[in-house]
Amino acid sequence: DRAGDYRILHEAALRDYLAGVPDLAALLGAEPVSWSVTEVGDGNLNLVFIVKGDRGGVAVKQALPYVRLVGESWPLPLSRAHYEFLALSRQGELAPGLVPALLHHNERLALTVMELLEPHIIMRKGLVAGTHYPRFVDDITTFMAQTLFFTSDLALSAAEKKEGIAAFAGNHALCKITEDLIFTDPYRIAEQNRWTAPYLDGLAGALRDDMELHVAISRLKLKFMASPEALLHGDLHTGSIMVTEREMRVIDPEFAFYGPMGFDTGAVIANLLMAYFASAGHERSPGERRAFEAWVLETVEKVWTEFARKFLDLWRAGAVGDAYPALLFAGEKGATRLEAERQAYMQRLFADTIGFAAAKTIRRIFGLAHNIDFELIEDPKKRAIGEARAVRLARAMMVDTGAFAGIADVSGAARKLR
Ligand code: ADP
Ligand code: MG
Ligand code: MG
Ligand code: MG
Repeated sequence: DRAGDYRILHEAALRDYLAGVPDLAALLGAEPVSWSVTEVGDGNLNLVFIVKGDRGGVAVKQALPYVRLVGESWPLPLSRAHYEFLALSRQGELAPGLVPALLHHNERLALTVMELLEPHIIMRKGLVAGTHYPRFVDDITTFMAQTLFFTSDLALSAAEKKEGIAAFAGNHALCKITEDLIFTDPYRIAEQNRWTAPYLDGLAGALRDDMELHVAISRLKLKFMASPEALLHGDLHTGSIMVTEREMRVIDPEFAFYGPMGFDTGAVIANLLMAYFASAGHERSPGERRAFEAWVLETVEKVWTEFARKFLDLWRAGAVGDAYPALLFAGEKGATRLEAERQAYMQRLFADTIGFAAAKTIRRIFGLAHNIDFELIEDPKKRAIGEARAVRLARAMMVDTGAFAGIADVSGAARKLR
């Protein structure tokens, strides 16, 4: 192996490495000394470099043996780069054009070279700026319907499905981060928790005392741990989506594993709701962002309705998996009953979706990792107002899930709180 053992490739070493891979060198152009190498990683875990030559550019992602946000005191397995590569490959097959193309992978260096997304930006940044993304609903719902349906028991044989689970089962250290940071820590005293003090001190205390909420978050945690329904992206927030006004790409599936589908669909909806509740804090004049806010809530609704429509269409068109054996639903009577069951399945998935969306919201306001939707609101009082609204809706979604019969009940409740 020409790469040898793991080492962190900073600028010069990375240039030498890429120069040694003929296909990449050809893509970038002659004269490696003239290539620009810039570290752009803004995530919590890894290094990302953009490398540009006179012919083209690439993005290079390398896992660190620890959590970047915290440092060497929090080790994290390099194998996450393997799972990210595997997930991107699978997602690229199932949802062509909606993830970056893969160009090179080095297992020992925990390093992946991929298509440079340019001029794409992280969607969360666009949402903070108040930008509408007309392609987003169609692309994200295609991504989710295709990746979730085709890795589920509705589409796979039992053997294929279990092989898939096994291929990702080793990614448990990344799952554990989610289990702790999303499903446990915000509800207890944890050193790494933080919130907009002093305004949210009372709410933080109430969360630690709220047994109905503790039951609800624990049920969701169990579902996350014990329901390998489909291959999840596992970290599908608006910071894992890159966009232009015409294109969308999903990046960063290092948390991929077989889990409950509602965890991915809920992540998208939670992050849109947070963009909505943060929006007022980014106004320069009152009401300035009303049109954007209306678009965000409409997008929340369509993300669910379009996802459900596409998922059901896939199911109706070709369920060759071992679940719901066709022989048990023969004839007109069977077809009618199976269609009713499909609707019931989607209703259960909807309940999971809003429960997980609530969990994702609360962790961003009281846990370790916050998001710029709220963090970039400079006035802490304004920030706390938006955060408190988001938490109020999240608590209702998690504890009174049954009161939300459809997605319009979620967007309607959000609209009332603003
Ligand atoms: P992490 O796992 O550390 O969160 P990400 O995969 O999310 O890393 O990447 C961090 C940042 O690097 C992204 O927010 C984005 O700005 C940039 N980035 C990642 N992949 C690409 C790419 N293929 N093209 C352009 N920029 C990228
Ligand atoms: Mg990321
Ligand atoms: Mg990541
Ligand atoms: Mg957002």
